[in-house]
Amino acid sequence: MKFLSWICFALMLASCTSGGKGPDKGVSFALPDLSGIYPYVENSAYSTQLKSCANISTGAASCQLSKLPLIGMEFDQPTVEQIMQRVLVSHDWMGLRFQEYLNEAPPEILTLFKATSAIVIASNIRPSFFLSYSGAIYLDSYFFWLNNEEKATVTKSSDYRSSFGQYLPFKLRTRNLINNEFAYTYPSLNGNEERPLEDIIISTSRVILHELAHANDCVQTQNMVNISDDQSYYSLLNSQKSDGQCAYQKLTDFSPLNSDIWKSLGRVLFHGFEETADQISMSPRSAGETFGADDALDFYSYSTEREDTAISFEVLMLKKLFNVDLDVYVVPSYTVDSCDIQVSWGERGRLAKPSVYARAEFVSDMMFPGMDLDTLYQSLPATFDIPEGSSSCTRDFSQTASAAMKVMKSEPFYPYEEIPIL
Ligand SMILES: [Zn+2]
Repeated sequence: MKFLSWICFALMLASCTSGGKGPDKGVSFALPDLSGIYPYVENSAYSTQLKSCANISTGAASCQLSKLPLIGMEFDQPTVEQIMQRVLVSHDWMGLRFQEYLNEAPPEILTLFKATSAIVIASNIRPSFFLSYSGAIYLDSYFFWLNNEEKATVTKSSDYRSSFGQYLPFKLRTRNLINNEFAYTYPSLNGNEERPLEDIIISTSRVILHELAHANDCVQTQNMVNISDDQSYYSLLNSQKSDGQCAYQKLTDFSPLNSDIWKSLGRVLFHGFEETADQISMSPRSAGETFGADDALDFYSYSTEREDTAISFEVLMLKKLFNVDLDVYVVPSYTVDSCDIQVSWGERGRLAKPSVYARAEFVSDMMFPGMDLDTLYQSLPATFDIPEGSSSCTRDFSQTASAAMKVMKSEPFYPYEEIPIL
């Protein structure tokens, strides 16, 4: 509680709007101090206004699109070089690495950058986020380090939501796998481990796809020639919203999430509201089954309709571009994490459920029209129920029962750590 109170105090000082912690208030995200960022490419077309348009904290400060257009208002198929001209960093290595990442990234991701105005990578950003005032995405530099020197500049502060839901009797977990192996790992910032570029491609694509989904939510890239530059980005967003043009609005009309139990858990887990007595007495299994009966892909879908939309796109695109399958599972609360922690409820590949896929397809069709999503759907492996009581370390369930027991004992333990997004 002490830590959480400190966070609330800090947030009140920083934003004067969150109102602190309480059953009716929750805790809001405070923007990081980005006064130290600078354009990575000097003397590019927008380098003089890039920072003043990205480092803002109100809608009133939103730049006119004539001053800083969205990338797609200028380029129909932006190149790595054109995207790099919109990059702001706190340290040079972050710009270099982002460029190296873009050179390896699938072309679909370059196209999705059309809906952004700038990309900010800074040592003190956590979690990564999209800002509706600027149209920029702000990325945690954790995703980009390769060596110890770079790692030493990345913040070690935890996500502001890390203690939310601490009195619930269960914890939620997700993991992204390819053929039963981790699609990526998140090495500790305290260790000496270094990593090659190829190790960060999928984890970085995940966070970028997520933040780009927010950018593409209300401003979709196929309509960009019609956008007037005689308005601020924030006005554009608001007029799209009042016209009901945002993907999250259309998704909510098309297929809303229905679980009131999970909407209420979402307020606790992602917005810092206090747990209710009912929530504290809910069994881990029942929490999981209730989740499973609705159509969300991930627990985080219950944060907001916008997050639900972004997750739907992120999960489908990770499957399409990298063959990643998402596991979602619930475990009882614990104090020390280990392979002895047993799964209370879990599913692999919820994307294959028809009603779940329909939502992801709906959103993805809007954000990236023209993809062959029928073929993707036909190729999905059926959703798999992770057996109740299996070790939380077990990833390969294809063994016979006795072999699976052996696998359980020998699976390596990785400390569970999720680098969060907003
Ligand atoms: Zn998000």
